[in-house]
Amino acid sequence: MVDYLIVGLGLAGIAFCERLEEHGKTFIVINDDSQTSSNIAGGLYNPVILKRFNLAWKAHEQIGLAKNFYKSLEVKLGVTLDHKVPVLRIFASVEEQNLWFEAADKQKLQPYLSTKLLPNTNPCLNAQFGFGEVLNTGRVDTQKLVKTYSGYLTNKKVLFEETFNFDDLKTGAKGVSYRTVNAKRIVFATGFGLKKNKYFNYLPLNGTKGELLTIKAPILKEERVIKSSVFIIPVGNDLYRIGATYKWKDKNNEPTSEARLELLTKLETFLNCDYKIVNHVAGIRPTVADRRPLVGKHPVLDHIYLLNGFGSRGVMIAPYASNQLYEYIEHGGQIDPEMDIARYEKAYIKV
Ligand SMILES: Cc1cc2nc3c(=O)[nH]c(=O)nc-3n(C[C@H](O)[C@H](O)[C@H](O)COP(=O)(O)OP(=O)(O)OC[C@H]3O[C@@H](n4cnc5c(N)ncnc54)[C@H](O)[C@@H]3O)c2cc1C
Repeated sequence: MVDYLIVGLGLAGIAFCERLEEHGKTFIVINDDSQTSSNIAGGLYNPVILKRFNLAWKAHEQIGLAKNFYKSLEVKLGVTLDHKVPVLRIFASVEEQNLWFEAADKQKLQPYLSTKLLPNTNPCLNAQFGFGEVLNTGRVDTQKLVKTYSGYLTNKKVLFEETFNFDDLKTGAKGVSYRTVNAKRIVFATGFGLKKNKYFNYLPLNGTKGELLTIKAPILKEERVIKSSVFIIPVGNDLYRIGATYKWKDKNNEPTSEARLELLTKLETFLNCDYKIVNHVAGIRPTVADRRPLVGKHPVLDHIYLLNGFGSRGVMIAPYASNQLYEYIEHGGQIDPEMDIARYEKAYIKV
């Protein structure tokens, strides 16, 4: 009998495993490669929504937790994951500069929006109105995290790389059993894979496909993240990730020529140097109708829990949401009502 069975090892599954390790709980993880979101993400953490200069949902509560979380993972796994790069927002006009400085005056945004107007000194970028700098930002190498963490769990012999089969799950008074594993509880952290989960597929997880390109641009020589209609994210060795797209209809992980064209068209409005495309990836963000995570216990079945719905902000939300789920299960803590799946209980009754 283990304490937990976890299905899914993206950012959600990893963050929950870390809570368990911290508290000396035993667990088994089952994970397949049907979803790619955590593997291909841009990995940015940035407390500000750069379209309207608003604070992202609970950003203030999440940012410190997130930084500590990735720092302790770096120590534990012996790899560098958190690259503390600034994010620069290109201003399109003087009006936009004014909106930025108005926002930067607000108490809530003061820790995150610099009040200096940065002039553009990079000849490869079109940014005649300069940049605003977001503070407390960075990039987590999520691909390296997933790979290294999978290796870590494989060495501990607690990771099974296979697809979870719902027909083999039995629930009982004392916990659940899955094939040869008995566990006190099961936590599903399967991202968009939730669609195939008969216990939770009543929830309004829409999913938003996103695509990213990687380009090689030897003369760009930019070390900061640049945000205009798309992000330019430096990842070293003259490589930059360009993204991302948002599509609501297409629900597969295949890169498309339409997205590639869209990204390049946007990129070329503010980049004017030679580059070569070296990679193109796609994945489905686990986005929810009301744009809040999906966390909590199954409406009627004991021992079955969910950690999902991180949308386009998994890097910052994963440590915050996993803490709350753990405290709720182990100590009866309260899950933030905005992300508790209890808000959709009526939808469950209807099914
Ligand atoms: C193009 C793109 C760019 C992004 N950029 C950023 C960014 O810059 N910053 C940021 O914070 N977020 C970003 N995101 C969002 C971020 O990737 C997600 O919020 C986060 O990765 C979701 O993590 P997850 O663990 O919930 O889901 P996932 O990453 O989808 O992980 C779920 C895991 O469960 C597995 N699984 C599913 N079903 C089963 C099953 N039946 N059996 C076994 N295993 C199963 C999947 O294969 C997968 O390994 C981006 C997303 C995309 C698509």
